[in-house]
Amino acid sequence: MEAGQRAQLLKRVAILGAGISGLACAHRLAELQKQHQNPAQILLFEASDRSGGNIQTESRDGFLLERGPDSFISDKPWALDLCRRLNLEPEILETETQNRKVFVLKKGRLFPVPEGFYMIAPTNIRSFLMTPLFSLSAKCRMMAEPWIAKGSVGLDESVGHFIRRRFGQEALECVGQPMIAGVYSGDPEKLSLRSTMPRFMDMEHSHGSVIRALRAQSKKQDALRSASGPRYSLFLSFKNGMVSLVSALEKKLPPDTLKGSARVESVEYDAELSKWKICFAGGRAELVDALCSTLSASATGRLFKESDAAFSKELSRMNYESVATLNLAYPEKALPRMLKGFGFVVPALERRSVMACSFSSQKFKGRAPQGHQLLRVFAGGAFGKEFFKKSDADLKSSVIEDLKNILGIQGEPLFCSVSRYPDGMPQYEVGHSQWVEGIEAALTGKKGLFLTGSSYRGSGIADCIHEAEIQAQKLDYFLAVDMGRRMEYR
Ligand SMILES: Cc1cc2nc3c(=O)[nH]c(=O)nc-3n(C[C@H](O)[C@H](O)[C@H](O)COP(=O)(O)OP(=O)(O)OC[C@H]3O[C@@H](n4cnc5c(N)ncnc54)[C@H](O)[C@@H]3O)c2cc1C
Repeated sequence: MEAGQRAQLLKRVAILGAGISGLACAHRLAELQKQHQNPAQILLFEASDRSGGNIQTESRDGFLLERGPDSFISDKPWALDLCRRLNLEPEILETETQNRKVFVLKKGRLFPVPEGFYMIAPTNIRSFLMTPLFSLSAKCRMMAEPWIAKGSVGLDESVGHFIRRRFGQEALECVGQPMIAGVYSGDPEKLSLRSTMPRFMDMEHSHGSVIRALRAQSKKQDALRSASGPRYSLFLSFKNGMVSLVSALEKKLPPDTLKGSARVESVEYDAELSKWKICFAGGRAELVDALCSTLSASATGRLFKESDAAFSKELSRMNYESVATLNLAYPEKALPRMLKGFGFVVPALERRSVMACSFSSQKFKGRAPQGHQLLRVFAGGAFGKEFFKKSDADLKSSVIEDLKNILGIQGEPLFCSVSRYPDGMPQYEVGHSQWVEGIEAALTGKKGLFLTGSSYRGSGIADCIHEAEIQAQKLDYFLAVDMGRRMEYR
């Protein structure tokens, strides 16, 4: 084929946002396009001057701080699979298993979550009966869970309703709510069980009880473990922090893919040219054959405000919570009563500025220099809006004061760095799955437009990677069909 003909055939794809979703989507699309004779040009537009989005690792005075996510999970395979393809496996860091304990604050004191306790459900009866976390009546109520009737199939209920129905109010207030806040920063009375904790819904329907399902699962896992040898811990990071994943993806992208400091202001479809027009500040525009936005649903909605008001309005229905993280460095001698563990969660009832705290240097090796500890606090979320609104200085002093009371810390931190994620936590509220289906139905009428990112089908890193790779596959198929290469997919 002549060079001129090839240039004419060259398709262009724009991916908006270079967080983990955008990077994974661009990377997978490049992998797939490599197999074709005339690969499309991939343009990854990122508003800021760095990629990674929420993922931000910082080295400071010998400490390794994670401002955003500090880990990804290994029980969903997609992040780990990507690490293998990126040759990142030697960099993977497991959690310090000997410290695998989480605490819950109750009336100002920390108590360990009983052994075998899975989010909301006890599986180790002896350890559950011994815990001072629950009253006797709450323990009896929770133990009665296997005899509670199943809920209606197909009904999307709130996480709060589900926990209360199966385990009782105290289980929700003392452990369910803070555990859920630790992951989603949300209100369990609003979050959808189907979209945030589908495993629990499946457990109820398959075994009639969460406790029964967990027991059956744990027997199966024991058998699997002894058959397949040791596996990775549930939470994984990298020796040099989460940024390793971002850097490895960046390096694997074709040259000139990533376009930093390129804030997209609006998008519109040009029906005459059958192309998407992407507009940037200052009037610059790019025409592309296909477009995938990985921005939050609300940010994507804003891009369509002028060109497709109804679609824009529908995307903007999604709610978000804002969170702040604070990394605090201490000399070990300031923490004479420091507990061994991964950290603690704080029920909303306790009314503290700290929503959750990771003992970062006990969770992962190499996060603090010898003789020091690094703590990472979450503040804000559905029950801490007033704390998120505080100035950095006021938020720092509330958190430092809380940590002094809870952990018996003596003295001030060596440093405390605050990072803010306004509207950073998508809230999958009751009805979320129908909303996603509605958005997907609307997309069928918008040729060459694709959406992915944490707003739709999973907000953790592993899910974001999975969804981004699915959209890359769809983009690849779309380009093939558009170029008459449909046969390659037969
Ligand atoms: C504080 C915090 C802690 C978390 N901890 C964990 C954890 O430990 N484990 C886990 O699995 N998940 C965690 N999560 C969730 C996880 O970080 C996110 O789901 C994931 O990083 C989302 O990636 P993304 O690429 O979809 O979006 P983002 O990371 O938000 O990336 C979106 C990108 O789009 C860019 N952008 C925005 N607007 C425009 C525009 N108009 N034009 C061009 N570019 C634009 C942004 O600059 C950004 O780079 C955490 C989230 C937060 C906020």
